[in-house]
Amino acid sequence: MDTDSKIFVTGHRGMVGSALVRRLHAGGYANILTAGRADLDLLDSHAVHAYLAREKPDYLFIAAAKVGGIQANNLQRADFIYQNLMIEANLIHGAHLAGVQRLMFLGSSCIYPRDCPQPIKEEYLLTGLLEQTNEPYAIAKIAGIKLAESYNRQYGRQYVSVMPTNLYGPNDNYDLASSHVLPALLRKAHEARLRGDESCVVWGSGAPRREFLYVDDLADACVYLMEQGYDGDLVNIGTGEDVTIRELAEMVMATVGFDGRIDFDMSKPDGTPRKLLDVGRLAALGWRARTPLREGLRLAYETAPFRN
Ligand code: GDP
Repeated sequence: MDTDSKIFVTGHRGMVGSALVRRLHAGGYANILTAGRADLDLLDSHAVHAYLAREKPDYLFIAAAKVGGIQANNLQRADFIYQNLMIEANLIHGAHLAGVQRLMFLGSSCIYPRDCPQPIKEEYLLTGLLEQTNEPYAIAKIAGIKLAESYNRQYGRQYVSVMPTNLYGPNDNYDLASSHVLPALLRKAHEARLRGDESCVVWGSGAPRREFLYVDDLADACVYLMEQGYDGDLVNIGTGEDVTIRELAEMVMATVGFDGRIDFDMSKPDGTPRKLLDVGRLAALGWRARTPLREGLRLAYETAPFRN
């Protein structure tokens, strides 16, 4: 990528897209293209194909997606599979038609089988059954990976899929019904402290293990891979370390200064017992995460919208 390359970042208002734009600006990239929802409906094939044919970006980052936490994935099953299939099919096929040679498709670690060995290597994809709570989303993302890979095989494109672990940071979703665990707990602990509550509710048993990556680290890894000209099909992006939900809750409570109890709500699902990525492939390419969880929690809390 040159600093004057035309780089299209989809989903630039979201947590990942906005981090990519920040990282690209910081890296001196000056020709960044974004399109708001009012300008371009990513569910509309004709509109997306026409837009790409007109703009002809040199690089495309697909950070646009319908995403959410365990409850949103579990309840809005049709919306998650349909919207993600459409967004990725429209953008990947449209990019190919427009002659875009390089793109990066962002997936998620929930594409891997629920009960696969840990840490999870890229080659475990499609070796077992998926976690039920987010199966529709995962199937859509797996289709996106295979779509990108198929254009590489048939047409010699360089369409790379990256699988980030659980992300957090500025512009995260803090809506308690649809968010992921980390932003939810930051908000719950903050509000519990303000109200002077004795306890804070955490869903499930607290036993599941999750890995968390600060979103600016993810953006850095994505740009790094593009700059290196990485042309494999699939690479995991994570920290290589995980914590239990209980440990996360304790760290969050320390971050926001809430010293009450934790109450576990066992009527809520635990989801996958453990989801830790093997980051060996990325490490071999020379990249590793920089922001420790404690530091990332502090940064996320500083920028959290519910504080204002
Ligand atoms: P997942 O990684 O796809 O399972 O998605 P989440 O980030 O939503 O949930 C991770 C784990 O955190 C699950 O075991 C949830 O039950 C648990 N959890 C605990 N408290 C909360 C909460 O307030 N919100 C969410 N979304 N998850 C929570």
